[in-house]
Amino acid sequence: MSNPSIVLKEKGKIVLENRPVPDLTDERSVKIAVKKTGICGSDVHYYLHGNCGTFVVKAPMVLGHESSGVIAEVGRLVTNVKVGDKVAIEPGVPSRYSEEYKNGRYNLCPDMAFAATPPYDGTLARYYIMPEDFVYKLPDHVSLEEGALVEPLSVAVHAAKRAGIKYNSNVAVFGAGPVGLLTAGAARALGAANVLVVDIFDTKLELAKNIGATHTYNSLKKGNFDEEIIKLIGDRPDIVLEASGADIAMNNGLNLLKTGGVFVQIGMGKDDVKLPVAQMTQREIDYRGSSRYSQGDYNDAVTMIANGKIDVKQLITHRFKFKDAKTAYDNIIQNGKDVVKTIIDGPEDELAKL
Ligand SMILES: [Zn+2]
Repeated sequence: MSNPSIVLKEKGKIVLENRPVPDLTDERSVKIAVKKTGICGSDVHYYLHGNCGTFVVKAPMVLGHESSGVIAEVGRLVTNVKVGDKVAIEPGVPSRYSEEYKNGRYNLCPDMAFAATPPYDGTLARYYIMPEDFVYKLPDHVSLEEGALVEPLSVAVHAAKRAGIKYNSNVAVFGAGPVGLLTAGAARALGAANVLVVDIFDTKLELAKNIGATHTYNSLKKGNFDEEIIKLIGDRPDIVLEASGADIAMNNGLNLLKTGGVFVQIGMGKDDVKLPVAQMTQREIDYRGSSRYSQGDYNDAVTMIANGKIDVKQLITHRFKFKDAKTAYDNIIQNGKDVVKTIIDGPEDELAKL
């Protein structure tokens, strides 16, 4: 196989397939040999349901978008990186002519080409092509596995910046999945005084403490939710970051939030959710959405890891070989509770001989 790729043929069907090696046709682009890829909830959603939000899989699509790799070839005008460099891949390229790109909020560009979002192929292949300014060189002491985790960490950094975290911020994060955990870590790294994580699994709350949470709370516990949390962090949080997407967490978060506070929605749940709008209006709650990442977020995430501000490696609970990628997805569906982050290796050499 010249370019082994993990392809979602249709809903419920993942295959290992050979695809043509992509050509480097642009002088400012690079060809990356993909080495590590994290599995994201969106990939699993495409596998199970054939869609994710409004994006529908209509043709076979290569999966994966949380990747790192090594530069294998560079275009004639590339100056950012050279062959052999370890890089993290930022997997969405906006239109360079869009209003959003010019305004510095390129994650909102309607013409974004994003890996493993139909109709664009993902990164679970031997080779992937990117413009040179959408790959980020990793320092020598940062591993390729950490490089793959730059993607979800950038989601967290973006959300934490949307919240406007300051040195004395009192922060509550709802949901201790990978993004919630990383959001807690990013909030702490950006200087928040208190970061409390709420979830229903004690094992995930334990992990939250290791990654930067100053306090945790299991919401299945009996007692008055608001009072218990105020007891822990001294006051109502002035920032709530919602990373679970569950209606009840959104409502609990909004009720808990301090008057005049900021609420950032990161998790994606149902399209239509009932929220206490009158209360939000009267208490001047800033309700903000947060989507993927934008200007500066990838650089900040790489720097946070490089400077030891957050230990992202702790999130990795499962590792699979490239040829076992389908098993990696099935394992998440069957044993989701025990999985935090799964990493799939780049194609092993033996596949090249097939
Ligand atoms: Zn992702």
